[in-house]
This record gives sequence, C-alpha cells and structure tokens, in this order.
Amino acid sequence: MKLRIVYDNEAREGLESDWGFSCLLEAEKKILFDTGASSEILSRNMQQLEIRKEDIEIIALSHEHWDHIGGLDAVLHPNVMVYVPRSFTRRTKKSIEERAAGVVEVSGPADIVPGVHTTGELETGAGIKEQSLALDTKGGEGVVALTGCAHPGLENILAAAERFGELYGVIGGFHGFSNLELLEKLKMIVPCHCTVHKEEIRRRYSEKAVWCGAGVVIEI
Ligand SMILES: [Zn+2]
Ligand SMILES: [Zn+2]
Repeated sequence: MKLRIVYDNEAREGLESDWGFSCLLEAEKKILFDTGASSEILSRNMQQLEIRKEDIEIIALSHEHWDHIGGLDAVLHPNVMVYVPRSFTRRTKKSIEERAAGVVEVSGPADIVPGVHTTGELETGAGIKEQSLALDTKGGEGVVALTGCAHPGLENILAAAERFGELYGVIGGFHGFSNLELLEKLKMIVPCHCTVHKEEIRRRYSEKAVWCGAGVVIEI
C-alpha cells in the first residue's frame, strides 16, 4: 500500500510544515491517520497533494491531542467512518458523530480493513491512551507500525504491533524514545513529528532511515 505524509513538523517544498501529524494510507480503503493541528494547513496540503476529503473513507485517530485531531474540520464528511480509542471524551465523540457516518470505538487489537490493523488502545503510566496501526507489507515480510505520538512508549507499541506479524518497520512520532538499539532489527525507520532523537536515529541508521515530512511517499 501507499502511505503519504500529509502533515508533519517538516515538509517538502510547496507544502506547509507545522507541529502535528497526518498521513494517508491507500489500502483496500483510503484511510487518513490523524489530522494534524490546523484544518487550514491540512486542507492546503491536501489540495497540493490532490487529495479530496470525499475520497477518504476512514479516519483513524491515534489519541485526543490537538496536534492529531485539530484538523478534523477539514476532513469530516457524511460518508466517513472514524475510528477512535474508546477513552476519547464523550464530547469529542459526539462532535465527530454529528459530522460523520459513524464512530467506531477501539479497545482491543482489531482489523480495520485487510492489511491494516489497530493495536487497540494502549496506555502507560502517563495516562495518555493511544492507538497505533500495524500495516502488512506488500511482499509479506511483516508489519510496519504507524504511530501518532507514541505516548504509551515505542517499545510497548512495537510489541503490540508484532502480534500481527514480524516487525519490518516503524513510521510516525516516537516522542522521547531513546532505546535506539531496539530499532536495529527493523528494515525501515521513519522518525516523524515529535521524535526527540530524530537526528541521532537518522545518523545511527542512515542506511534504512527515511526522511519524514509532508509530501513524502512511502511504499509499504
Ligand atoms: Zn500527543
Ligand atoms: Zn503529537
């Protein structure tokens, strides 16, 4: 499947960078993972990338932080199903429900469409609940974990993604993750958004680290 970064702290020329994260997966259905912080910036980047909101069939939101759900106004439409961690506030769920085909509340691991799985809602001591996705690679090598901010800890997210297959790669915000040797076994590393040790990861794994920014396309 094709994954396009639509919103990130960095961007290719012609696209806007901003603190937040969003990417579009073209699997059996078109799935937008997170929406960035600003609906204006999300709209403009989508326009540049020729993505129409009506073509998005599913939106999956990692967690209820502004830099991941702030762009919702730009992408909600009456035919889109929205997958959210069950712990989302009632107010947010209601506001989505009113402008979408429906809300699917995620608790445990599940399939969203063939080849796209959710880890389910994960949580650690910090108390921020978050879902990540696991994407099957085209060649059957394994799965690529897709994270929002990785608040539950990248170690825990990778372990949860691994139940869907051997870990092939990881894409998204890694937050403060610093146990870098854990990435050794992966074939593809795409540190985005809030990853604190981005430069160090790119240096250490220069042969398999992919630069992340709005406009980047990754074949999975
Ligand atoms: Zn967050
Ligand atoms: Zn974030």
